[in-house]
Amino acid sequence: MALKNDCFALPAGVSWTPVDDALADLRARLSPVTSVEAVSLDTAQGRVLAQDIRAPISLPPADNAAVDGYAVAHASLTSDGEQHLMVVEGRAAAGAPFGGTVAKGQAIRILTGAVMPNGTDSVVMDEDVERDGASLSFGSGLKAGANRRKAGEDIAAGDIALTAGTRLGPAELARLASIGVASINTHAPLRVAIFSTGDELADPTETLLPGQIYDANRAMLLALAKAQGVEPIDHGRIPDSPAAIADALTSAARGADAVIVSGGASGGDEDHVSRELSRMGAMALWRIAMKPGRPLALGQIDGVPVFGLPGNPVAAFVCFLIFARPALHRLAGASWPEPVGYPLTARFPARKKPGRTELLRARADGIGGVEKFRSDGSGLIGGLVWSDGLVMLEHARGPVEEGETVRFLPYAGFGLS
Ligand code: AMP
Ligand code: MG
Repeated sequence: MALKNDCFALPAGVSWTPVDDALADLRARLSPVTSVEAVSLDTAQGRVLAQDIRAPISLPPADNAAVDGYAVAHASLTSDGEQHLMVVEGRAAAGAPFGGTVAKGQAIRILTGAVMPNGTDSVVMDEDVERDGASLSFGSGLKAGANRRKAGEDIAAGDIALTAGTRLGPAELARLASIGVASINTHAPLRVAIFSTGDELADPTETLLPGQIYDANRAMLLALAKAQGVEPIDHGRIPDSPAAIADALTSAARGADAVIVSGGASGGDEDHVSRELSRMGAMALWRIAMKPGRPLALGQIDGVPVFGLPGNPVAAFVCFLIFARPALHRLAGASWPEPVGYPLTARFPARKKPGRTELLRARADGIGGVEKFRSDGSGLIGGLVWSDGLVMLEHARGPVEEGETVRFLPYAGFGLS
């Protein structure tokens, strides 16, 4: 399922696009591209559900006991005074229901998870009773329905258990298993080809030559992609040559559902990614009003979306989280994820002009405040290591005074640990 070839085309004359507008655009233009396949629960973890699932049964299937004790009919009890009931023969245990009926004035031994026997509706717990042979006594005040789990209180038969677009984690797998759904239609994992560009780049296994730096982005982007539940494919390092970059883009797009490239995305002499993307297919260089983040090149090759991220590792990291991440989730069939954030008190002042979104490497101090990394706009990877999230200063916001409230987006909310 290829995307329309102009899905990233922006109206002419657009200059600095606010982050929210760019995200709304991406969201509107992208749709799932992966095929759908049936899988069993043991291989479903991390997959995206491709169908709504309705519960074939109610859960619990029947009223049952929430504690160990004695099942009684609430109508057998008096509103005050000591209660005296006769314990009947037999018992109800989980997986071993009691076949008979419990008459008024009687009680029956019941264990947690056992189906409530006919004639009973409430359970008095072990800790509250005295038993002497077949006679049971306890105080008044047991509520009708006490210590009883109602049939269908988790989910009723026929109700939606999970919706299409849900990523299947441990809780979702438990829900499917609990209602006896053993096989589901899921999206095949999104294959994401990743490569770095730059004549200066060397592999971490190599010895640096003069003028070289190690390729940090590829390890980072492969890991970022993997953390989103997609299948990263390493396409290596590509020199700043138009032909090599064109070849790399073509072969990456051929074997993947999306491509992520770092470096060479702006309009400079050696910025061939944006140039080759425009030559080869639909391309929109989005001048996004975001710091760090410029430039972000979005394009398509044969209907495969290409995300050209900045070479600066911090900018690549932030652009991935803010733009590529939700886009990958959407392409993978998942619902569009909104960043998870909460307000904290800024323990720092920050210069900020209205008119662009800024993302600061930040760390929650655990007592309601947040600190920012010592150095602002730089490409220091140390700031990524130091931080455990981003402070997002919104488009319209001006300078931040120490003590003001800012929005903190923890990395954990982006699926990172
Ligand atoms: P570019 O976007 O290609 O102009 O790169 C911007 C800055 O990021 C330059 O200083 C590059 O050397 C640096 N850079 C580009 N790619 C990488 C990479 N893969 N790893 C580390 N630094 C990079
Ligand atoms: Mg470069």
